[in-house]
Amino acid sequence: MIRVEEARQLLLTIVRSMPAEVVSLRNAIGRVLAADIRAPLPMPLFDQSAVDGYVLSSRRLPDGSYRVVGMIRAGDIPPKTIQSGQAYRIFTGAAVPPRAYGVVMQEHVQTTGERLDVPADRIVQGSHIRKKGGHFKKGAVVLQRPALLNAAAIGLLASLGKQTVRVYRKPVIGLLVTGSELRKAGTVLREGEIYESNSSTLIAALESCGYSVKQLAFARDRMAEVERQAKRLMKVCDVVLFSGGISVGDFDFVLPVLGRLGVKQLFYKVAQKPGKPLYAGSLGRKIVFALPGNPASALVCLYEYVLPTLDGMQMKPHRGLVQVGLPLASELSLKADRDQFLRARVVHGHVEVFTAQDSDNLRSFAESNTLVFVPAGVSRLSAGEQVIVHLLPQQEIVASNS
Ligand code: AMP
Ligand code: MG
Repeated sequence: MIRVEEARQLLLTIVRSMPAEVVSLRNAIGRVLAADIRAPLPMPLFDQSAVDGYVLSSRRLPDGSYRVVGMIRAGDIPPKTIQSGQAYRIFTGAAVPPRAYGVVMQEHVQTTGERLDVPADRIVQGSHIRKKGGHFKKGAVVLQRPALLNAAAIGLLASLGKQTVRVYRKPVIGLLVTGSELRKAGTVLREGEIYESNSSTLIAALESCGYSVKQLAFARDRMAEVERQAKRLMKVCDVVLFSGGISVGDFDFVLPVLGRLGVKQLFYKVAQKPGKPLYAGSLGRKIVFALPGNPASALVCLYEYVLPTLDGMQMKPHRGLVQVGLPLASELSLKADRDQFLRARVVHGHVEVFTAQDSDNLRSFAESNTLVFVPAGVSRLSAGEQVIVHLLPQQEIVASNS
């Protein structure tokens, strides 16, 4: 059995980047840039006013004032020049005429008809003018691969007139749920049967991280059935997740099926709680995870192993859950035999660890916003002691685009 850290390191060795694809900016949020972006335009595009006010020539009239000779609105073509003693009423974003001296804010001037008086200390050369190319010149690299496209990055691309962007393709994900005891909601349960929940859990978790399951299949605990569905998913998916059937029971067929399909085992069983019977393997560039069937184990393994792998395939600069150090709200005693991911809640900057940590219990998980990682060997932690928490995704990301 390997440790959590070894398992993570092994996964890094099989992650390959997905090919690139071109998507519209509308579908680019959360995607990863696959090619550097050079500016086709300088930014700002032309000298423009940063305020509402008056643009002035470099010289005043003999009486020390200026004469307002016109108005330049945002979007107007500016006059060819501004002559000595002249001023134009100007608005934020409007183009400044060539050879203008500076812009003065309207709050700082006095006007009487066409006459404009500007206190000497309110105007210096270039004041309130956003210079052409002041942010970057044409041809400059403004975003570098593999940048994560956040809202501002998408806005930046839009400001350069881009409609599409080259990003890494998202892996096509398949999920095969195994278990003869599992029934869909809406059916009447017979004794011994339960409602199937892992597909709902795992799909929701993936969607909250920007991924979607493209192929969902179910199989009873029969070798032929598991094999048939697994074969189909392996053909059309980049990543195949199995739920259940990976333990040591007589009816756990996932491991032998993966062997028969030629999947190369990367690891099987991790010294962790929950989620010990976790399997990872690969077939060519395809990656397979067999997640334990216990609901909390499956979800922890999805967050801790599947998510960083999917992020890695897209070359995301940050992979997996965000990790931070935070103080414990109260003392904690643990069995120290395995690495642990404890369901917990961060409240006012302190970590409250739930008592219920059974691998089949989703109740406390439902109230969690974080997983606390405690390495094997630690049996006691005091209140106020720093622990590493892995923050669970809080916001919903609509995984509408592939
Ligand atoms: P397994 O890993 O298949 O041995 O399953 C371990 C435990 O998780 C058993 O109690 C199963 O009934 C339960 N389980 C497995 N798959 C699911 C599922 N999709 N939804 C809900 N419970 C499940
Ligand atoms: Mg099972």
